[in-house]
Amino acid sequence: MSADPNCIFCKIVAGRIPSRKAHEDDDLLVFHDIAPWAPVHLLIIPKRHITTMYDTNEADAPMLGRMTALAPALMRELGVTNGFRIVVNTGPDGMQEVQHVHMHVMGGPRPWAKG
Ligand code: 5GP
Ligand code: ZN
Repeated sequence: MSADPNCIFCKIVAGRIPSRKAHEDDDLLVFHDIAPWAPVHLLIIPKRHITTMYDTNEADAPMLGRMTALAPALMRELGVTNGFRIVVNTGPDGMQEVQHVHMHVMGGPRPWAKG
């Protein structure tokens, strides 16, 4: 499936819900979290609808690698040079709320609101 009409992040990819974008390319979109835990809180998502990390496999390694490689580059661009966290909540026990794979990248000076 490339897009799920009921998925909030697919709607953001399609521009049907506005977002504050930090990066966009053919495969990935990065935007600022609407309820940030940290001074800078990005969500890196694949544009293609993938429900959870359980739905990824070896074939997705290049995409997952690109998502990971974007994190330090964007943090640096946004002035975050003293550290950040990457979190990928997965499934019910992982407390995943939005069912479209996303990588939280949180950084900036502490204290943070959460995390
Ligand atoms: P999860 O708990 O699934 O790992 O994280 C979902 C994240 O998506 C939350 O941090 C939440 O604030 C964020 N989020 C949910 N809806 C929207 C939205 O419409 N726009 C943006 N920018 N972030 C959202
Ligand atoms: Zn989706």
